[in-house]
Amino acid sequence: MREIYENSYIQHGSSTMFIARENGGKYLFVSDGEAYDLLQGVRVGDTDGNGGNIAKGCPPQGERVGDTDGNVAKGNAVYGSAIKRCPLTNENSKVIRSLFPFTNPVSHKKHACTIGLGDRLGLASPGHLRVIKDKNIFPVLAQQSIRELTLTGRTYEDVLAAAVWAVFQEGYKSGYGADGDHLKSREEVKMALDCGFTMITLDCSEHIPNGLTAVAEFAIDIYNEFIRGTDIDFELSVDETQTVTSAEDHIFIANALKKANVCVTSLAPRFPGEFQKGIDYRGDTTEFEKELRKHAKIALDNGYKLSVHSGSDKFSVFPIIYRETDCRVHLKTAGTHWLEALRTAAVFNPDLFRRIHIVALEHLKEAKKYYHITENTANIPAIDDLDDGNLPTLLDNDDARQVLHITYEFTLAAFKAEIFDLLNRREDEYYDALAKHLTKHLPRL
Ligand code: ZN
Repeated sequence: MREIYENSYIQHGSSTMFIARENGGKYLFVSDGEAYDLLQGVRVGDTDGNGGNIAKGCPPQGERVGDTDGNVAKGNAVYGSAIKRCPLTNENSKVIRSLFPFTNPVSHKKHACTIGLGDRLGLASPGHLRVIKDKNIFPVLAQQSIRELTLTGRTYEDVLAAAVWAVFQEGYKSGYGADGDHLKSREEVKMALDCGFTMITLDCSEHIPNGLTAVAEFAIDIYNEFIRGTDIDFELSVDETQTVTSAEDHIFIANALKKANVCVTSLAPRFPGEFQKGIDYRGDTTEFEKELRKHAKIALDNGYKLSVHSGSDKFSVFPIIYRETDCRVHLKTAGTHWLEALRTAAVFNPDLFRRIHIVALEHLKEAKKYYHITENTANIPAIDDLDDGNLPTLLDNDDARQVLHITYEFTLAAFKAEIFDLLNRREDEYYDALAKHLTKHLPRL
C-alpha cells in the first residue's frame, strides 16, 4: 500500500517522481527516464500491475499516461516503465538539489519578514510549510546551532537534507533558507558554508568582555574571509550574554561595520527582559518596547533588520515586535516545535510521554549546563496524579515546558525510535499541532 504525497509529483525529463509512504517508511519513487540512474534505490516493479502501480487511482493495467506532454496529473500512474524506490538519504537529496533548483536554500535579503524554524528532529518542516505557503513570510527551514547538532547527534548535511525533502514533499517552490546558527569560530562557519548553508549567524557574545571593538573586528574578519562577494545572509548576534545591548552599543557596532563595508542582513541584540526558551517574554513590556523601537530605527538606518532569538512563544511582545519593526524582522524559533512533537506524544501515546517526562526531570541538572532557564519544578504537577487525558496540560505549564524543552539530548537518546515511529504514524496530527502553534507566532500581514 502506497500513500502518495500528491504535492510532490514532479517530472524530470521523462522520469516521474514523487514521495510516498510504503510499509511504514517514506521514500522517493522515480520512474524510468533521465533521473532513474542518478538516484540510489531498489527497483520495485514495473508493469506487473502491483509494484508498478505507483499512484492511488491508477488507470487499468497497461494504459500508459502522463508521459507525452510532461504533465503528470495527480493520481496518474506511469505504466510500462521501471520504478525505483529510493531512501530519503543525504546522497539522494543532493541529486534532487541538482535536478530541481527550488529545493536549494537561497538568500533572504530581499524579504522583509523572515522566520527561523529550527527542526531538531527533521520531521517538522512540512507542517511549517503548510502554514507559510500562503503567507508573505520567508522560512529559514534549516536552522541549527552547533549546540543542537551536538545534542541531537546530527550534522549540517542531515539538517539541510531534511529541509530538501520537506520542500520536495510539499511542492514548495517559494524559496527557503538554511542558517548555521550561533557559530563561534571560522571552522564552524566554514563547515556550514561547505554544506551549502545560505545564512551564517555569527555569535560574537564571547568577544563582548573584550570590548565592542573586538566584536566588530571578529565579525569583520569572518565577513572578509567567507562572506564578502557572496549572496550569503550574514547575521551578527550578541544576544547570548548578560549585558543588555544599549542603543549606543548598537550604533557603535553598526558604524564599525559600515566603515569596514560589511553588509549584514540582520543583527540580534540582547534585549531587556528575559527571552527564555519556549515560554512567554518575562520583563517590563513598556521598557522592551522603548528599547526595541531604538534598535529597530538603528537597523533600518543601516539597511538591515533586527533578529529576535528565542522568539518562540513570546505572545505578549509579538504585537510590539511586528509593529515597531514594521514587519522587517527575523524571528528565530526552534525548540517550541519539539514541544509540539511531545504534545503529539502526550495525546496519542500517553505511556511514551510519561516515560519522556520522567527522564526529562531526571536529567534536568545536566541539561542546564547548556541552557539558561529559571524553571521551578515545584510548579509541575506529579505525573502520576494526572490521568491520560490531562497529560497535554503539561505542555501548557511554563515550568514543564522549559524542562521538556532543554532535555532533548536525554529524552531523544532514550526514546528516539519510539518518538519517530509515533510522529510518522501520526504525521497529519503532528503537522496540525505544528501549524496551530506556528500560526500564533505570525504577524497578521
Ligand atoms: Zn541566540
